Amino acid sequence: MALIFMVVFSSSCTVVSDRVVDGTFVIEASSGESWSLPLDGIWEFHWEAFPDPQNPGIPPDYIAVPGAWNGGSVNRDALPGQGYATYTMTLISPEEQDIALRIPRVFTAHEIWINGRLVASAGTVGTDQMSSQPEYLPQVATFGVHEGDNQVTVRVSNFHHRSGGILENIFIGDPNTIAAARSSAIATDFLIFGSLLMLGIYHLVIYLFRRQDPSYRYFGAFSIVVATRTLLAGERFIMTALPFIGWEMAHNLQTLSFYLGVPLLLMFFQSTFRDLIASHVVRAIQVVSLSFAAFVVITPVRIFTLINPIFQLFTIFVAAYLLVFLARVLQRPRMSTGFMVVGASVLVMTTLHDLVFLSVWLNDAGPSVFRNFVGSGNLSSFGQMIFVLTHSLVLAAKYSEAFEEREMLGRSLAETNANLDHLVRDRTKELERSQRDVERKKEQLEASNRILEQLSLKDPLTGLWNRRKLGETLSAQWRKCVQDGSYLSLILIDIDHFKEFNDTYGHDWGDKCLALVASALQKNYSRASDLVVRYGGEEFVLVLPSVGEEEAMAMADRARKIVRNLEVEHRASPICPYLTVSVGVATCRPGPGGTSKDLFTAADEALYRAKDAGKDRVDVGQGNGRRPLKPRYLER
Ligand code: GH3
Ligand code: MG
Ligand code: MG
Repeated sequence: MALIFMVVFSSSCTVVSDRVVDGTFVIEASSGESWSLPLDGIWEFHWEAFPDPQNPGIPPDYIAVPGAWNGGSVNRDALPGQGYATYTMTLISPEEQDIALRIPRVFTAHEIWINGRLVASAGTVGTDQMSSQPEYLPQVATFGVHEGDNQVTVRVSNFHHRSGGILENIFIGDPNTIAAARSSAIATDFLIFGSLLMLGIYHLVIYLFRRQDPSYRYFGAFSIVVATRTLLAGERFIMTALPFIGWEMAHNLQTLSFYLGVPLLLMFFQSTFRDLIASHVVRAIQVVSLSFAAFVVITPVRIFTLINPIFQLFTIFVAAYLLVFLARVLQRPRMSTGFMVVGASVLVMTTLHDLVFLSVWLNDAGPSVFRNFVGSGNLSSFGQMIFVLTHSLVLAAKYSEAFEEREMLGRSLAETNANLDHLVRDRTKELERSQRDVERKKEQLEASNRILEQLSLKDPLTGLWNRRKLGETLSAQWRKCVQDGSYLSLILIDIDHFKEFNDTYGHDWGDKCLALVASALQKNYSRASDLVVRYGGEEFVLVLPSVGEEEAMAMADRARKIVRNLEVEHRASPICPYLTVSVGVATCRPGPGGTSKDLFTAADEALYRAKDAGKDRVDVGQGNGRRPLKPRYLER
């Protein structure tokens, strides 16, 4: 850092005690001393004349150096920017010695003669646009002077730029000091160029990996643009190394770097602090800058340098806007933005410095107090270095914040992992609990379903199986008997004259009697395989698997007797004072050909026959249903 300061300021620092006065400069140092001074002051000036260097002849005008001649010579009105002239002065040396001049850019072609001998030149000095050739070639010229007066003649012509003349300081000194200053200035240019180029590439590479943040792109592009400008604006060593670039092209590139750098800087700030810079401001600045850039591309230097002052004015407005913006950024209490503001302020200030240096007021308006502290047109490269540096600090701060966040996340992840075992155990327990709950609920549900199913198969009045259950069971029993080859008997029971019973004793008592009959039947037919069913109304069915015909008839008659023996009074019955039933019975050995329906039909027919025959009796049908049975009436 100290090196950069040393190198930068050694090239721009001016000593003003010894000056050129009325075209005369007195060398006070003698051979072997180290010294260096700017040859600024008042030189003799011959407008539109190239007098003999040895013998100028014509009486001279006087002009301030450095400064554009279109700013006006001392005793003449303003001159045009384009034209040619001769600057002369007398160097008074205390002794014969070697002297060196560090010659800057001269606008736009020049020759330097010492005591009638040409010691340095750039481009071709001419009297019109055709005969002159522009070139900027900062260089060192070393020559011998003799004791006493030495004639210095500088011929300058300009037909390619807005301003003409010696616009920057010519330094005089001993050859070693001058050569060292030139070398260190070149070294500084390359140091800044290299640093900016690398940082530019670095930011562009970061952008390649992190596309979501365009600020890296703008910053990278801006750094590279400024890096390019550094090589073109300072000691212009690049022109010595790559002369084919040419004066026009180099001028175009340098101006373009300025015109494109302004919007890039704005875009960078906008992408970093979106809420503080309105996008329409950026858009306006882009439009203006690109229009100027287009003008640079399509017109020669002679033309576009005419509009350069307008862009310089525009840049001053942009800089003012940026300074206001930076002040607003400062209100954000973050260290990283503090760095950024410092860096950006240095950049804006150094850019303003360069602008003033290159501006019309300074160059075209004669001597100015500004010149005392504005000594170089290339300080903004140094400003950009500072800016890049502070931005790198911001970047580092950002990275360390990101790392911290990552570490914190890592720690909390580790904690979560450590707790994960407990968590999993707790969750598993919870899950098991809820699974048990679900199972219990399921069992309850199944139980209620079973009950519901039972209910749907039971007759609510008597508690016997209902007709649905009979349907299910009978066909199952049939198939089972087909397999086993066993008998299946069916008994149908119907209460006699029950309508009259109801009529006589009421429906309620009728219900009670139905329940009574049901429970009596249930009690007497309680084998596991027996099924006692209320078929509907006052009809009951007994399903008796593995019961043969004889046994079935006996059981049917027993059923009849059971009801009769209940001795339920039935005074409306024409056949008996008690409640009686008629019974139809059918038995078969189920075979693959028949169905349980046949058996039921046979039993039903038998029941009808019993009714027809006078009720309170049993009749038998044949279960295969194919041939009518010979009725066999049993006694009461
Ligand atoms: P039969 O001797 O020819 O069988 O004559 P019945 O009156 O018993 O037979 P019918 O088919 O004419 O009438 C059946 C009667 O059974 C009609 C109805 O009053 C009675 N009944 C049917 N279901 C119920 C019931 O759930 N409760 C009561 N109290 N009576 C019923
Ligand atoms: Mg009936
Ligand atoms: Mg009946």
